[in-house]
Amino acid sequence: MRPFSLLTAGASSLLAACAMLAGCNSTSISHPAADTVITNGRIYTIDALQPWVEAVAISNGRYTWVGKSEDAQQHIGVETRVIDLAGRMAMPGINDAHLHPARGGTKELFECNFPFSASPEQIQARVAQCVKDNPSAVWIRGGQWDSGFFDTYQIDNPRDFLDAVSGDKAVVLNDDSNHNGWVNSKALELAGITKDTPDPSDGTYVRDPATGEPNGILLEGAEQLMMDQLPDWSQSEYRQGVREAVRIANRFGITGMKDAMATEPAIAAYHELDQRDELSIHMAAAIATPYGHRQQPLDYERIDRIRKQYASAHVHPNSVKLFSDGVPTASRTAAMLKPYVPIHPDGAAFAGMLHLEPELMATDLIELDKRGYTVKIHTAGDRSVRVALDAIEAARKVNGDSGLRHELAHAGYIDPNDLPRFVQLQAVADLSPYLWHPSPIIDSIVSAVGSPRGEQYWPIRDLLSARAPVLAGSDWPAAVETIDPWLGLEAMVSRADPKGVHPGTFWNEQAINIEQALRIFTLDGAAALGLKSVTGSVQVGKSADLIVLNHNLLEVSVEDISETRVELTLFEGEDVYENLDTNTASSQKP
Ligand SMILES: [Zn+2]
Repeated sequence: MRPFSLLTAGASSLLAACAMLAGCNSTSISHPAADTVITNGRIYTIDALQPWVEAVAISNGRYTWVGKSEDAQQHIGVETRVIDLAGRMAMPGINDAHLHPARGGTKELFECNFPFSASPEQIQARVAQCVKDNPSAVWIRGGQWDSGFFDTYQIDNPRDFLDAVSGDKAVVLNDDSNHNGWVNSKALELAGITKDTPDPSDGTYVRDPATGEPNGILLEGAEQLMMDQLPDWSQSEYRQGVREAVRIANRFGITGMKDAMATEPAIAAYHELDQRDELSIHMAAAIATPYGHRQQPLDYERIDRIRKQYASAHVHPNSVKLFSDGVPTASRTAAMLKPYVPIHPDGAAFAGMLHLEPELMATDLIELDKRGYTVKIHTAGDRSVRVALDAIEAARKVNGDSGLRHELAHAGYIDPNDLPRFVQLQAVADLSPYLWHPSPIIDSIVSAVGSPRGEQYWPIRDLLSARAPVLAGSDWPAAVETIDPWLGLEAMVSRADPKGVHPGTFWNEQAINIEQALRIFTLDGAAALGLKSVTGSVQVGKSADLIVLNHNLLEVSVEDISETRVELTLFEGEDVYENLDTNTASSQKP
């Protein structure tokens, strides 16, 4: 395939552009000249009435015309930039409707990062390097080690293992679920944790069996207490982090995202960058509320203040995040309808716990729905799903249908009786396809939930058959190493590990096709961002958020979907990422 060409303003480039467009001559312009015209593409629109077009015209950041290449010349004037796609596929930009961009960007720039697959020796070497590179730091934070790390490797004392390379620094390393931590002696000392410190009610300081001293592994609530000790990033660091997250997102073809738990400093950074005209993405935000057990309704006035203070052209803080439970991994903190497999064969039956009483969740839902917020509720267990649906039902009864589509995040376990309620209540299943293939996390979940129930996880096909609304998100950097949406798209279609590390498939009966997956990642994502009329499809009047790909997703084999490379990303008609050189593409940092 020949490289596509960007032909920009000026008479000579117009001539070059015209040479490729049969019959073009500058006197034939019968429409106002567009800022940009894109021709000779295979443009997948996500518009059911016109699924494919060849060309588009863009002015003031919006599509003014879509159609056939042979008709494009009417929109080309002397100043028009013409892009010849040479037959390449283009499509609307991706919308990632559940992730943590400020967290991901600051982690990328300022933390001590290593891959999930890192060996003990690699982790030690990396920590030693980070200590050396940050002579004035008090804390070194980073990660992530995989959930099965301490089963795979024999490390007698994890704390001593880090002490050996950490000098005078306090080191905190998160695991791949972000629910557990691994720390050194200095971190325990700064946090005031000793042999005599009791475990928190919702977590554990794992101890050395011989001495009773904390061995450096912190589970759940114990890890949370440690994280609370760490100093927050400065506002300037937040801005740098967000800039980095947006840069990475644009490179993968993402032009819209929803921060699933946006703290005030993060939203302030989005707003500041937008004021400086530096935010090349549609940023929706679910305002963060406290994690863990809560007895009082939320502070609705504070939430209203944040929405009012930081909303701007590309910042939409119109959602609120609530937590109903934890995770269904070995820690067994997601609230389930039936008990987990007991940790010990003769152990008690335990089904997890709700963070909020059902009445309190309903109170919050009714009030937030009334105030115009889309509520994103973390519901990892099927009992949480039911309670959240009950709360939405209560809101619909009191407020009528507000038109707001509340979201159930990580709703992988859904009792078949509750599935039709997603349709009735127009509740959105917030899907995490990046995780639903064989992997250590899935193994941990299935062994805790038990078989065969544990394998009935993420019934996307059933949800689509019932016509339930859905969205997809990477959850980066909470549980995945990269924001790369093409991994999630492939896993949705294959239910297999796109990287091929873990063999087999996971509940393959629920696989869907690529057309369905593309719609979820574009138009359904836009709906979740509250921007369905703004972006998510290639249609006249919509924002020109368009990506050009190296291959045609409707023609490549399933295992090549994750190999998709974005060659050009337009946000509101402007280039925000461009990579026309095939050779340098693979050497770019993932
Ligand atoms: Zn999340």
